[in-house]
Amino acid sequence: MTTVIWWIRRDLRLADNQALTAALRNAGRAVPLFVLDPTLLSAPDVSEKRVTFLFGGLRALDADLRARGAGLIVRRGDPVIELTKLVAETGAEAIYAEEDPWPHARRRDDAVAARLPLRLVPGVTIRSADVVRKADGGAYTIFTPFSRAWKALPLPTPRDLLPAPERLPTLSPDFASLPIPEQPALTGAIPLPSGEAEALHRLRAFTAGLRPPIHAYADARNRMAVAGTSQLSPYLRFGMISARQAAVAALTAAAAAPDAAARAGAETWLTELIWREFYMALLYYFPYVLDDAFRADRRDVRWGNDEADFAAWREGRTGYPVVDAAMRQLVQTGWMHNRARMIAASFLVKDLLVDWRWGERFFMQHLLDGDPAANNGGWQWTAGVGADAAPYFRIFNPTLQGAKFDPDGAYIRRWIPELARVPDKYIHQPWMMPAPLQRQTGCIIGHDYPVPRVDHAWARERALVTYRH
Ligand SMILES: Cc1cc2nc3c(=O)[nH]c(=O)nc-3n(C[C@H](O)[C@H](O)[C@H](O)COP(=O)(O)OP(=O)(O)OC[C@H]3O[C@@H](n4cnc5c(N)ncnc54)[C@H](O)[C@@H]3O)c2cc1C
Repeated sequence: MTTVIWWIRRDLRLADNQALTAALRNAGRAVPLFVLDPTLLSAPDVSEKRVTFLFGGLRALDADLRARGAGLIVRRGDPVIELTKLVAETGAEAIYAEEDPWPHARRRDDAVAARLPLRLVPGVTIRSADVVRKADGGAYTIFTPFSRAWKALPLPTPRDLLPAPERLPTLSPDFASLPIPEQPALTGAIPLPSGEAEALHRLRAFTAGLRPPIHAYADARNRMAVAGTSQLSPYLRFGMISARQAAVAALTAAAAAPDAAARAGAETWLTELIWREFYMALLYYFPYVLDDAFRADRRDVRWGNDEADFAAWREGRTGYPVVDAAMRQLVQTGWMHNRARMIAASFLVKDLLVDWRWGERFFMQHLLDGDPAANNGGWQWTAGVGADAAPYFRIFNPTLQGAKFDPDGAYIRRWIPELARVPDKYIHQPWMMPAPLQRQTGCIIGHDYPVPRVDHAWARERALVTYRH
């Protein structure tokens, strides 16, 4: 009976796992391994909440494996060294893992493949990063044609989804394993429980049933106070569900939609999954985007980079309620609504003229779903420096964005208690409150809540001049 290693990285699940399936197909026994890589765990952009979420996912996976007669082997160190040791211990003939387009992961995998029989299979994305290409073989840099080409390839169906194995023939109990680390003491609780079972439950709740939220997604997705999006991003980040499971659920919901609006909801959600694939492909083809703007003509913007402005933004003290609510939600929970991400990012880059890379790193240091491709893509898009980015002259007005996407201020009041008693009329511009009303609501501007850090109209002009220059 042959033995192989199932090297788990960002595929913390048993269902629809192409690496696990390939491992079991090619060998009698698979040893499930996770390597705690100190380089990643102590990286400057690591987030303690994301690591906690990862450890929670490992614990859940270990329990699921034990229920199938196996157990997770956890090792700590350089993956090349740890894999070499485990191959020697187990006599494994191959290592199976899901390919990962992130440049660091590719370098790591190249180093492993140079010494050991590493077999990479797809799975982090539905289409491998190099599959969706233009007729001339080049990479797409505009989303719409990418999306069209993506959809023109065979769409996944329920029949493609691989079942979780009922038992896992393994040798793992025979090999030493470190305990899964305890969770670090956290500032603020994580609102999302980790693990595959939770991910599947959430996917079902969002996409199935009589009136699934996915059918209302086209309208509800921009309302920051409403649970109108799936909140599946951290689960997709760590592969607690596969992107393919998500796409199949979207296509099934589209087919079952009772009307055009409901179908539009499901199709829009699928488009978001394709954005995820687009940014993965961009990172694969243009790895330099992690250091610099995709667009060469947008690399020399003269950022102001005022440290005090950056601190005010990080701490949710800019004086613009929607921006501050977004940043407090991020720091307290590790998650932020997509509309809020766009508003907060735009404010940092365009109103405060701080380099988008500062914001990108701060997001990575806090997001549960922090993903190099999607985060970089989102920041470059907002800053107007990326492939297929928002035009540089599109500058979000934080007051109008708040009024449009949080009309009754519920999102703001949830995250900024000092504004809780401010009437709707002033909730998006509390600095306009007359002094007696400030006293009455217990919110003195400049004392209980900051005056706006910059005047938006002035800042907008400054950004336009700076970008044009
Ligand atoms: C500045 C900025 C930074 C971002 N950083 C990240 C990040 O680090 N990790 C991350 O997963 N997403 C990131 N996004 C994209 C998006 O904000 C999140 O994916 C989304 O808010 C997650 O919530 P959800 O799961 O409820 O999404 P839903 O609306 O339910 O969408 C379903 C899934 O599609 C994917 N998706 C949705 N929108 C995007 C998008 N614009 N780009 C790429 N994938 C998308 C996600 O995997 C998401 O879970 C960022 C966006 C911006 C503007």
